[in-house]
Amino acid sequence: MKNWKKFVTLSLTAGMSMMLLAGCSGSSTETTAAPETTAAAETEAAEETEAAAESEAEAVAEGFAEDVQAIVDRGVLHVGVKNAVIGFGYQDTLTGEYSGMEIDLAQKIADYLGVDVEYTAVTAATRGELLDSGDIDCVLATFTITDARKETWDFTTPYYTDYVTVLVEQSSGITSLEDLKDAKVGVSSGSTSAKSLTEAMIEAGFISDENYDAETFDPATWTEGLSFQQYDDYPTISTALSAGEVDAFCVDKSILAVYNTDSRTYIDEQFAPQEYGIATTKGSGFSEVCEELITGWLADGTIDGLIEEYSLN
Ligand code: GLU
Repeated sequence: MKNWKKFVTLSLTAGMSMMLLAGCSGSSTETTAAPETTAAAETEAAEETEAAAESEAEAVAEGFAEDVQAIVDRGVLHVGVKNAVIGFGYQDTLTGEYSGMEIDLAQKIADYLGVDVEYTAVTAATRGELLDSGDIDCVLATFTITDARKETWDFTTPYYTDYVTVLVEQSSGITSLEDLKDAKVGVSSGSTSAKSLTEAMIEAGFISDENYDAETFDPATWTEGLSFQQYDDYPTISTALSAGEVDAFCVDKSILAVYNTDSRTYIDEQFAPQEYGIATTKGSGFSEVCEELITGWLADGTIDGLIEEYSLN
């Protein structure tokens, strides 16, 4: 929305010129000359307003960074989204239609650019690679902003904050974090879940932090007080939970919702705030566009409206 900014600046300049010129005519002592001066000022001001409008049109035409212009020229915005997270990114299996807050945000970005939108279903394990390969232009897929990820990709200001929790079979008798001591927990590869749960267990004093190092933590090798089994996608973890292959299924609450069947329950606690942002290629012009759009939609109530619409609060 740099273009809007340009437009506002240009409009202000034109407005200020009008005020200055109006001030000059007002101070004139030659009453006979005044109407002429006013008319001249009006003409000049009108010309300036027209010039400002032309500059705005040029700014819109020329204002995009090269990578953003490439999307505009292509006519399609490629967006990585989730396909099984109700309220965020969900694909109706019968119609193929996508719905959710992240789908609407993607559509709105495409509308701003004046292009179509195409969705690619991604997982926690594939979304970064697909962005790096250029298959998708951005990720809107419950992607938590972390310092480590920010080293690789740009993230916008968060548009939503979720929490991590744990889903279990009621028959397991597990009801709290404490009960997860010595459990085997199913998590998705490439997700923040294992680290979040381990840190929550350490903070609560249920497991030791002796060998914990946030920098080098690896779910595959962690065995201090609980262990993890990593899977490529969430349906597979759900099946593993039913089969007793794992004792618990840990991830963001929004993602777990669809797997919370009658025989299952969440543990009492939720922890580790997960701030979702749009991820884009580091240093790209498109990162700036996404950031300006998201901050605008946070400020004008659009995002709150979507949170309300999809009952995410
Ligand atoms: N939001 C968490 C993450 O980004 C959970 C994984 C997921 O989004 O699938 O790691």
